[in-house]
Amino acid sequence: MLIKLAVSSCAQPGTGSERVTMEVLYKSTRSDDERITASMAVLKGMSQDGGLYVPTRIPRLEVPLTELARAGYREVAYQVLRIFLTDFTEEELRSCIDKAYDSKFDTEEPVVLRRGDRADFLELYHGPTIAFKDMALTLLPHLLTTAAARNGEDREIVILTATSGDTGKAAMAGFADVPRTRIMVFYPKNGVSALQEKQMVTQRGENTRVIGIYGNFDDAQTAVKEIFLDKKMQQALADKGYRFSSANSINIGRLVPQIVYYVYAYTRLLASGEIREGDKVNFAVPTGNFGNILAASYAKKIGLPIGMLICASNSNKVLYDFFSTGTYDRRREFLLTTSPSMDILVSSNLERLLYHASGDDTERTSRWMEALQKDGEYSVPDDVMDAMSDFAAGYATDEETAQEISRVFKETGCVLDPHTAVGSYVYRKYVAQTGDHTRTVVVSTASPYKFESAVLDALGEDTAALQKQDRGPERISELSGVPVPAAVSELRHLPVRHTITCEGTQKAMEKEVRRFLGLSLED
Ligand SMILES: *Cc1c(COP(=O)(O)O)cnc(C)c1O
Repeated sequence: MLIKLAVSSCAQPGTGSERVTMEVLYKSTRSDDERITASMAVLKGMSQDGGLYVPTRIPRLEVPLTELARAGYREVAYQVLRIFLTDFTEEELRSCIDKAYDSKFDTEEPVVLRRGDRADFLELYHGPTIAFKDMALTLLPHLLTTAAARNGEDREIVILTATSGDTGKAAMAGFADVPRTRIMVFYPKNGVSALQEKQMVTQRGENTRVIGIYGNFDDAQTAVKEIFLDKKMQQALADKGYRFSSANSINIGRLVPQIVYYVYAYTRLLASGEIREGDKVNFAVPTGNFGNILAASYAKKIGLPIGMLICASNSNKVLYDFFSTGTYDRRREFLLTTSPSMDILVSSNLERLLYHASGDDTERTSRWMEALQKDGEYSVPDDVMDAMSDFAAGYATDEETAQEISRVFKETGCVLDPHTAVGSYVYRKYVAQTGDHTRTVVVSTASPYKFESAVLDALGEDTAALQKQDRGPERISELSGVPVPAAVSELRHLPVRHTITCEGTQKAMEKEVRRFLGLSLED
């Protein structure tokens, strides 16, 4: 569908300016000094004080949801992007959107809302790397290059990315061979699925570099943030004509595109008559770094009628404990699970939620984040917990996740990936505990093909034998009736291009950054 909606309330003839939406500026969660445009926030990635950029004013959707129900994904995307990224022109945004959501996606619309028996599934894995990160990372490179041009940035942009498995590949797919950019990805060598690793180490593009670290995602993310903020590094970069940015969900340019599919899901339910205007919908979101579910809470803030946000974790249940007790405590064993993209103990984007929930209190937010870094924990008071009472939380162990994959397959014939199964399990548990039967959408974050071993195991298949014959994907296809995605079959023939590994420390990783960029190794 190519309907373009007029924003009638914004027509202001005679001003000579087509963008009359009130400007939204961005500031840090940790101080009030700096106020920058959306394009600068996209370009910078994160604030120099260590905080994350947040909008200084929360905009509202300007087109009624009933009207958006007649529009396609790209139009919904435009209507969401335009209220947050106010210094981009309409032409710029529409051009970015058109380049992002094209035939890279294997469905007519880039996302699909599939009806389930108890809840609906919002399939966000039809993009080039078959996980939901594609929803934002097919768009971010275009936003970033547009932002660079808009701000007269002539330095080459270096994207540093920590990945728990999916962001890295999706970011590289988006940035590979994009002129004037380079991208470097750090992934936990022993903490991703076989297919996730294969996807990354076969990445093409002269401007890409992939490093496996001997450490976990938290190590990678912490070191990347530190390298990012290191003054010496910045000087060395500037001298060589580079500038850092981020493709992690700390970048507002990642977050805003993720708000779109919540609005889209709601409008599909409206379009099919399953809900009426104003009806509330709950979302259950498999959660790791808290970016996806935070986008859902922004969707609520801009006017989407959302009831509860159900935060689903695996056995790394630091968020479940936080929402249950008000204490965030990362001092615990980091567990490797069958849902590796959620193996995270320091969920960066919670900082943004806390900032808003504390009444935009930069002082308290800074204190909590400092305590997290120094002592490994912090506790928030009741007023802040109360402001987050629309969040519910739960978790699923690996065993419960496998049972859920098996149950959903037996009952519906659908094969879920382990992350989605965590979301589905936690949702069912939530209903059993609360009796809340509000219509609910479970966010389906990855294709089952991406986590072949865990899925085949859960379905009681002889995984080892299937994989020995290289028949894993075909078996999933036979069971699910879904053809093997091109993203999976093409991997069989691609040569490995990246073999570097290093320790998961700032020092070792910084050395690799310096090598990649041709900076002196001495400093
Ligand atoms: C990244 C990821 C998640 C977690 O999303 P966050 O935004 O980090 O909370 C869940 N599932 C899959 C498949 C992912 O790739």
